[in-house]
Amino acid sequence: MPRELSTVAVEPAPLDRYRPLVGGSRWQEFRQALEGLAEAVRGQVVWNLNSTARGGGVAELLAALIPYERGAGIDARWAVIEAEAPFFNVTKRLHSLLHGVAADGDDISGEEQAVYERTLAGNADSVRQLVEAGDVVILHDPQTAGLAPALARHGCRVIWRCHIGVDEPNDRARHAWDFLRPYVASADAIVFSRQAYAWEGLPEDRTVIIAPAIDAFTPKNQDLDAEMVQAILRAGGLLAPGHDGHAASFVRQDGSNSKVERQAKLLQDVLPSAGDPLVVQVSRWDPLKDPVGVLEAFARQVAPNSDGQLVLAGPAVTSVTDDPEQPEILAQLETRWRKLPPDLQRRVHVAQLPMDDEEENGVIVNALQRQARVVVQKSLAEGFGLTVAEAMWKGKPVVASRVGGIGDQIEDGRSGVLVDDPRDLDEFGRAVGGVLCDPAAAEKLGEAARERVTERFLAPRHLQEQAALVRRLVS
Ligand code: UDP
Repeated sequence: MPRELSTVAVEPAPLDRYRPLVGGSRWQEFRQALEGLAEAVRGQVVWNLNSTARGGGVAELLAALIPYERGAGIDARWAVIEAEAPFFNVTKRLHSLLHGVAADGDDISGEEQAVYERTLAGNADSVRQLVEAGDVVILHDPQTAGLAPALARHGCRVIWRCHIGVDEPNDRARHAWDFLRPYVASADAIVFSRQAYAWEGLPEDRTVIIAPAIDAFTPKNQDLDAEMVQAILRAGGLLAPGHDGHAASFVRQDGSNSKVERQAKLLQDVLPSAGDPLVVQVSRWDPLKDPVGVLEAFARQVAPNSDGQLVLAGPAVTSVTDDPEQPEILAQLETRWRKLPPDLQRRVHVAQLPMDDEEENGVIVNALQRQARVVVQKSLAEGFGLTVAEAMWKGKPVVASRVGGIGDQIEDGRSGVLVDDPRDLDEFGRAVGGVLCDPAAAEKLGEAARERVTERFLAPRHLQEQAALVRRLVS
């Protein structure tokens, strides 16, 4: 069945806004790398193909980064494949297996492989119409891996990026690798987000590591002063009313101004006040983010020794089509919250953030992270903790589990605190309490955190590394 690719419109963004953030010489390198690539690929397009224009880390990364490539004069474009539920069931299973997690059995059946190949064959004609021989195509994740052979035959330079991985590969992960290997063997380069995720047995000269990055100018990360933070949290129903006359405004990706209008849904009416020391975790309601464990650790180790309050924030769970695990985790959290003594209930806020407008949601997350005294991420597994990078960028002390990519992001005791055993609630709680009750140490951790993100996890570094790779492939 022929399928239509859809293209996502992306506006250019100016490179020079990064100059004051990364410093003159770093900025020059960044600019030269991108403009050098623009020169090297003049007349060619650098395509990104993935499976969704909205939602999820990859879409977030592409929406944030492609504008700078366009701003540098690179004809970077973004297209999304067309597929239906049976295909996504297969790729969701692949996703779980790549994480080393069971997914209704550990193999992809012949029937599933047929669905996968048929769907991508249906997209391949549309891809060939859109993409010219000589173009560079960056394929993202398992959903698009199967397009690599057709694109290579078409005369394209092909990069496959795998955004998923596992610390200690097991047989499940190896099954997924074995499934994907014949397709990605046609790619000129295979990119992983950290060394530990690179598959065994891939040719070294085609394996590249590029760590994820955040953009400092999205609503989620843009600068907000303290008054604006409070105004946004009040408008979003997350902070008790106060005497500010500020409008809860923010700047959208397209440069226009907007206001926060929608409110979070909470378990109770009691809201924190502006001066309350907040411990904040922002995450999907996912067992691997362990929000119930955060509540437990807070109740046991933080609340008795401080006047801290806990905010657990995540997306509003409203639709029956949402990930079925999310309502379940929220329900568990609510059950646990109801069992807390009333004085503790008042100090624990479970907030479902409005999701109707992604940028409004982003700026509320931004304000929550900025209002936090300590940001926590008690994940049981994590490829790369975007929330960790977001909070570190805001100069916040982060207490997180030493799992997956988080171990690369935070240097324990310097740019944050790592807890070795994410299941040890007392250890986690003590670590949070320690930072909460030591403002001088917290400030030092926050400063080092911001420096670390500036150094390693901002868009320019990522764009520069990817530009170097593309340049090498086209030269
Ligand atoms: N996030 C959000 N709103 C929410 C909850 C999460 O925008 O209500 C964002 C969060 O700020 C981060 C992303 O979703 O940018 C989650 O990425 P992360 O790497 O932390 O975890 P993942 O969800 O990819 O496992």
